[in-house]
Amino acid sequence: MPFEGKVAIVTGAGRGIGRAVARAYANVGARVVLADLDPAGCEETAQGWPAGAFYIQICDVRRPEDTVALAETAHQRFGRIDFLVNNAGIGIWKSPFDLSVEEWEDVLATNLRGAFLCSREAARVMRETGGGAIVNIASTRALMSEPGSEAYAASKGGIVALTHALAISLGPDRIRVNCISPGWIETGDYNALRPVDHRQHPCGRVGRPEDIARACLYLTDPDNDFVTGVNLVIDGGMTRKMIYVD
Ligand code: NDP
Repeated sequence: MPFEGKVAIVTGAGRGIGRAVARAYANVGARVVLADLDPAGCEETAQGWPAGAFYIQICDVRRPEDTVALAETAHQRFGRIDFLVNNAGIGIWKSPFDLSVEEWEDVLATNLRGAFLCSREAARVMRETGGGAIVNIASTRALMSEPGSEAYAASKGGIVALTHALAISLGPDRIRVNCISPGWIETGDYNALRPVDHRQHPCGRVGRPEDIARACLYLTDPDNDFVTGVNLVIDGGMTRKMIYVD
């Protein structure tokens, strides 16, 4: 039972992938700190969980003081932090000619700086309590692009680099740092997807949030302590598919 009694923080836990990740940790016996802008989504995520198994912390990862409070609260309530999943993220899609400086800053502050600050504050606790594991949620858009995705792609590419930098800095503190680059993960109505949506994937289907949640468990499992600094691409094979059109 490698996760029993351990403590996991999941940012952006109020919906989508973060919700599935939080539920995966709860299902294997970890206590979970659910961090998000709005507590309502987190309450839904944790519906039916025993009271002592979770704590909901309102946290805007763009605000440095919120990231400090997140780690301090988790430490105070549960006495340790073992895992952190930096999942909170936003995207702004528009032409690079129209993207404002404020929009660029907002995406970078949420996706990249937020992951750095949460990691740093959680690591301050982890190194005092025997180590831990951090997973950053990047994207296959760190590796390939559609038009109009500059801020998002840059933030996710930054996360891949941040991951290996932190893996090296925090290794001596027995803290492993990995990232996941999801492809298309359907967080809405999976049944509304078209056959062509599934068919275009080499593995034959669009991804589900649970595909990412299982990878978080793999990367943070203490048995897998030879794995650090990696970018695990989970995209049904899409980034390996060569496409030429006449
Ligand atoms: P969602 O938009 O469904 O959920 C994101 C969550 O993050 C929301 O709960 C949102 O809160 C929260 N959030 C946003 N900004 C902040 C902030 N400043 N502080 C704290 N929480 C915040 O996203 P997904 O579940 O689809 O994606 C999760 C992660 O996975 C993101 O990092 C995304 O970039 C990445 N990803 C997703 C893919 C996909 O296909 N779904 C593909 C590749 C990567 P609120 O609801 O209040 O806005």
